[in-house]
Amino acid sequence: MPSLTSLVRLVLPRRCVACGAPGEWMCERCGPRLRPLAAPLCVRCGAPTALAVSSCRACSRLRWLTSARSALWLEGPALALLGRWKRGEISPARLSAALMVHELPRPPVDAIAVVPAVGDRRLLRGADPPAELAVELARWWEVPVVPLLRRTRGVRPQRGLDAAARRGNVRGAFAARAGPCSLALVDDVYTTGATAARCAGRAPSTCMWSRSPARPSIGPLRARRPMADSV
Ligand SMILES: [Zn+2]
Ligand SMILES: [Zn+2]
Repeated sequence: MPSLTSLVRLVLPRRCVACGAPGEWMCERCGPRLRPLAAPLCVRCGAPTALAVSSCRACSRLRWLTSARSALWLEGPALALLGRWKRGEISPARLSAALMVHELPRPPVDAIAVVPAVGDRRLLRGADPPAELAVELARWWEVPVVPLLRRTRGVRPQRGLDAAARRGNVRGAFAARAGPCSLALVDDVYTTGATAARCAGRAPSTCMWSRSPARPSIGPLRARRPMADSV
């Protein structure tokens, strides 16, 4: 007579969250292909730089954000994982939070806020990765998740828009209540910072730290020329 555990494993075999291969949550092929944002980089936004710097050209316009850091480049297994998560096929919040805790310093925050999902889209796909991620990060950091932000209107999907269009798309799209003075703003992907900056601009907090599992490895945020303030 098989145990309940072995029965569950038989019916629901453990699968790689990136490629779906049976075995482990992250298979031996996908695990080594996860690429963290490695030094030298900009401490404030994680952009690759020739030398370690405290800020760079890429993040100079993120005036509302204290820092904006992601754990991994959004490519290969990380891209597959987040795509499957957004489509509601898997819910790897615990794994993603553990990756972020491993790769990023803990920000000195009192609470976590979430970039709110567009209601229809969340209903359509059945998943809300930022909210799920925030719950797991709250356990690691021992802080509450606060309902600070809400959407005031729908927006077009940001995918495919350039940085200026992204900023225009989310302008006036968020409202915020009073909250703690130091907040982590959690999202699933960080692209140009338009959404995070707009949320941070609405939140009456003194410090806003954007944190996400991944960001695209190409595009306008890649900083090639560091500013002079090396750390
Ligand atoms: Zn795999
Ligand atoms: Zn930077």
